[in-house]
Amino acid sequence: MERSHAGNTYDVVNPATGQVFAQAQDHDERDLHAAITAAQTAFSSWSRDSDVRRRALIACSQAIRADAEALGRLLMLEQGKPLAKAVGEVMGAARWFEHTASLALDPVTVRDDGDMQVVVHRRPLGVVAGIAPWNYPVMTAAWKIAPALLAGNTIVLKPSPFTPLSTLRLGEIIAPLLPYGVVAIISGGDALGAALAAHPAIRKVTFTGSTAAGKSIASAAGQDIKRLTLELGGNDAAIVLDDADPDAIIEKLFWGAFQNSGQVCSAIKRLYIHESKFDAVVERLHDRVRRTIVGDGADPATELGPLTTRRQLETVSTLAADSAERGARILDGAAIPPGAGYFFAPTLVLGLSDDAPLVVREQFGPLLPILSFSDEAEVIERANTTSFGLSGSVWSGNVERATELAAQLECGTAWVNQHLSVQPDAPVSGRKWSGLGAENGQWGLNGFLDLQTVSVAKGAA
Ligand code: NAD
Repeated sequence: MERSHAGNTYDVVNPATGQVFAQAQDHDERDLHAAITAAQTAFSSWSRDSDVRRRALIACSQAIRADAEALGRLLMLEQGKPLAKAVGEVMGAARWFEHTASLALDPVTVRDDGDMQVVVHRRPLGVVAGIAPWNYPVMTAAWKIAPALLAGNTIVLKPSPFTPLSTLRLGEIIAPLLPYGVVAIISGGDALGAALAAHPAIRKVTFTGSTAAGKSIASAAGQDIKRLTLELGGNDAAIVLDDADPDAIIEKLFWGAFQNSGQVCSAIKRLYIHESKFDAVVERLHDRVRRTIVGDGADPATELGPLTTRRQLETVSTLAADSAERGARILDGAAIPPGAGYFFAPTLVLGLSDDAPLVVREQFGPLLPILSFSDEAEVIERANTTSFGLSGSVWSGNVERATELAAQLECGTAWVNQHLSVQPDAPVSGRKWSGLGAENGQWGLNGFLDLQTVSVAKGAA
């Protein structure tokens, strides 16, 4: 944001090298206030015409797509993922803008007879706050900005301090296509996020991040009855049944757990394998893990990049050390680059009990506990014994049987023979401590709107 008063900046690190490679603006409370005031001013004309908004979202989508290579490279540099995946994330953001432009805002007539007409409208809220994490910064921003704007709101969005640059650049790409004040990206730390979420002019907070921060935001939002969408942590279970074909599922299981180096809210974080298939699946998964190419995202051969932050590397390393102390069998083998990058090789952990920290907590990294089971009812109960409820999956040669079991998982998304598939017209939502409300499709859009029932008595007053 150009109108920074203090002109302060902070370091942004490339996690593949551990070195500072750029500076980001460190916006202060005056910048925050200016952004919110501009968003309030922009709201009244922006909220008037949904056709204008739909056209603007399509233009944003095209502009993002046109800049995908450059934006993807910036994302790779600050977040660590391989370049092709980073460009894929940017293209995904463009797709989300495009799809959101097609969503319905029409009122619904519930009664229209000789006496009365009753029509239910959906009205925009005002200024929305968006707060995002560092694992998918561009995609997360798109999931918030696009529906907020289609609904007729204006938005002030804060990216993670670890990955601010790609979101600031996203803001620069779309700003010329929108009236001044409709979108502002402010960059700074957790305190700036807390100030944004608590600001009395904010009518809704859409937050993606940790459960701890989500709880704090929910408490602050209570003061003003702000609307909330929370997409929080997860501890997804994947369950491999006795009739699954190990060869057919290994590649998908691998990516379900290790995509983005395991830094995905709904990655596989606990893998339960039926005892009859345990050795076969573990052997093949270990072979795949050993062959993984871990490296700098700039190298086209790289499959998994570094962890994004030093803190995350420490969290994962501590969980690995704790597991080893508990006598777990640790299976790894992929080479990691020398130097100061935040690399951690994909690793399987066997022999832990259900109450071990790696099983109970969200590791958010490439360290996967694998557990055995013999009874289906028992494994569903073990999978559900958690405060999290984001997603889960069941793997089987019999799709009907697997679908029936997947429905028993207490989570927002239940997958069968896959993990991590999302699409713009289906909701992503968390149950229990994994969230509140939903993102995507009509369900997500409804979270950016208030209802107004207009009830008209016919005939003269
Ligand atoms: P985080 O909660 O530490 O930070 C997320 C964002 O919130 C950052 O922009 C941060 O500056 C801000 N923030 C932190 N404390 C705040 C507060 N009290 N008030 C307002 N803003 C605050 O999370 P993270 O470490 O960046 O991301 C990892 C976590 O995010 C994991 O738990 C992961 O599961 C979760 N996540 C969830 C989803 C989902 O859709 N459910 C997606 C991605 C990540």
